[in-house]
Amino acid sequence: MQLFKKYIFYLFRWQLSTPILAIVLWLLHGYNGIIVTIIANFIGGLIFFWIDRIIFRVEFTNPLWEIRDNITCVSCGKICEGFRLVKTKNYDRINDKQSEFRCPECSKEKIKELSNRGVII
Ligand SMILES: [Zn+2]
Repeated sequence: MQLFKKYIFYLFRWQLSTPILAIVLWLLHGYNGIIVTIIANFIGGLIFFWIDRIIFRVEFTNPLWEIRDNITCVSCGKICEGFRLVKTKNYDRINDKQSEFRCPECSKEKIKELSNRGVII
């Protein structure tokens, strides 16, 4: 999503917090205004965290790679500069705890294999 579109969408999203504030203020009428507003904002935060997460999600159009020096290629054992595919549109290894790095040649082979199996687009 382009930034301007996100901005417009976000401004409309922001308006959705108005009914929550109004309902909580109405339900807790007579209580301390500051406390009621804190409660309303807390409820809004519980809901809008998830919506804002979608709005501000980063879209990957190009594959994201991690490059590291002096790796041991998991395919051939060569020690050299290595690569690891981290993220594509449908592939996510950002939180991978056991990262596998490969030499340039084996990386190309692995990409071919993943493409042929339809794991990555
Ligand atoms: Zn290799």
